[in-house]
Amino acid sequence: MCSKIFDQPGNTPVEYIDTFENNIQLFVKREDLIHAEISGNKWRKLKYNLAEAGNLGYTRVITFGGAFSNHIHATAAAGAACDLDTVGIIRGEIIEPLNATLRQSKEWGMRLQSISREQYKKKSDPEYLDRLQNKFGPAYIIPEGGANQLGLKGVSEMTEISDRFNFWCVSCGTGTTLAGLVTGLSKNEVVLGFPALKGGEYLEHEIDKLLRKAGTNPKVSWELFTNYHFGGYAKISEELIEFIRMFRNSYGIILDPIYTGKMLFGVVDLIVNGYFPAESRILAIHSGGLQGVTGIEEKYGIRIK
Ligand SMILES: *Cc1c(COP(=O)(O)O)cnc(C)c1O
Repeated sequence: MCSKIFDQPGNTPVEYIDTFENNIQLFVKREDLIHAEISGNKWRKLKYNLAEAGNLGYTRVITFGGAFSNHIHATAAAGAACDLDTVGIIRGEIIEPLNATLRQSKEWGMRLQSISREQYKKKSDPEYLDRLQNKFGPAYIIPEGGANQLGLKGVSEMTEISDRFNFWCVSCGTGTTLAGLVTGLSKNEVVLGFPALKGGEYLEHEIDKLLRKAGTNPKVSWELFTNYHFGGYAKISEELIEFIRMFRNSYGIILDPIYTGKMLFGVVDLIVNGYFPAESRILAIHSGGLQGVTGIEEKYGIRIK
């Protein structure tokens, strides 16, 4: 159904960034270039979920996210391209005029419904999901952020690159991307996760659950660095914005302030503070998310791009 978008192998380029003290080298994998609208890890996580929706005969998808969600935006884009009816259940009030993320999603034909933050906590309850299907019609349901085993399977394909890296670094929301990397790697790599939200302990538990279901991978270890969330989801600071501008000016790569900016801030901070052994080759995943930059610029009245 969606083959015209997802049948390409998704081999995104790896770019050399810089060499630091002790010959530590930093590279970035440009998952942000995988597709113009369905960017980065969202393309990976939708790939097998939308295939499954098609296999099961669904023409409608319901999913969940916040008002700036890259996953909502990507699902709406895929729906438009693949002729799927899409419904986005949005956490909290939908404020008019719509922000750039929701405006674009609506233009692609997604139906948006806001629910209270309280109600949003029930987003996985079978009864609630039944009610949604009664309201919007039979639908394939994708959990928030594409956080399921099919999402993980798509992400694991990100590891199909020939270069050898010791450390793979990734920003975390639900942790599905980190878990997918852990299942896909095979040469004693270490995967480092940088949660973009507060509450890293809870996330660790969620990642454990995803990995237990997928079957653990004893070769690859992982660790979370929970000090780089800058106050929480979509919270920013002057220091973070300065870093993102420096990165753009020095290396010509735009980072988003919600996910990849925080992750690379953390990676460089760990390098400077001697966390990595000499000769380490570090690969940071640019997981995309650049559609969200406009919304943040409008919200805080700043320029990033
Ligand atoms: C959604 C998103 C993440 C978080 O991915 P998870 O699999 O939920 O951990 C990271 N980076 C970007 C750019 C994203 O859009």
